[in-house]
Amino acid sequence: MLEAQGIWHGFGSTEVLRDVSVKVRPGEMVALCGPNGAGKSTLLAVMAGDYAPQQGLVHIDGQSVTGLPPDVLARRRAVLEQTPTLSAAFTVRELLALGIPRDVPPERANLLISETLRDVSLLDRADDNCLILSGGQRHRAHLARVLVQLAASDRACGYLMLDEPTASLDIAHQIATMRIARRAARLGEGVLVVLHDLNLAAAFADRVVLMHRGRVVADGTGTDVFTAARLSAIYETEIVVEEAMDGRPRIVPVYDPDTHPAQRA
Ligand code: ADP
Ligand code: MG
Repeated sequence: MLEAQGIWHGFGSTEVLRDVSVKVRPGEMVALCGPNGAGKSTLLAVMAGDYAPQQGLVHIDGQSVTGLPPDVLARRRAVLEQTPTLSAAFTVRELLALGIPRDVPPERANLLISETLRDVSLLDRADDNCLILSGGQRHRAHLARVLVQLAASDRACGYLMLDEPTASLDIAHQIATMRIARRAARLGEGVLVVLHDLNLAAAFADRVVLMHRGRVVADGTGTDVFTAARLSAIYETEIVVEEAMDGRPRIVPVYDPDTHPAQRA
């Protein structure tokens, strides 16, 4: 299990995380939602072991993340940052190779890279320079980099931490990305995914953690967490929650209160 307990963290005098506790179990997909600036990316960085929290503990399968050497941590968890950066003009294949430990034989590494590129529909771009890809294609290449990092690990499963993986994708690739994350969970990985699209969270996640101003305000199923009153209050905009045909909540922002059917009724 990946577990953050009682995390407090800030930058200078700004307190960003206030007593945050979150659990991600193997095989579970947890969506982390909340307004801009709520502290989602900071929490992800703390849970990934990239920031040491000012207070609180993060454990990955019972071990403190702060004590783990980077190469050990890299086999336990893979992180897709909100804004991945490239420090050199890599090809797509070279970018993925960065995620694979050196002791993996080249034939196995190449096979893993090809399989993962096929999963994100980029196999035909494998030898292209990442810099000539579109923004969404480049984001998918980075997703493939973190997927291959866990796939190359000799451990049975790890934790996939994705910060807004669907933000720059068209609707088909958003769904494809969520299916890839879902499949990773089905195969035993614990998945923590930051999502702004509350409907994607409701449709795909086993559990939703909703953050507001550095605190967890709700943690439960999409149906429990996504209530119209709670969402309208924390996003400071009117939001209606309907029931979709599959029984899950459907979150509908009210674009124009004068013409929305719920207002007229
Ligand atoms: P979210 O991902 O929920 O939009 P973040 O965790 O990125 O929010 O940021 C939460 C708050 O912390 C914001 O007010 C942001 O400006 C601040 N913050 C994040 N990272 C830093 C940093 N490295 N230095 C100073 N402030 C930061
Ligand atoms: Mg963020």
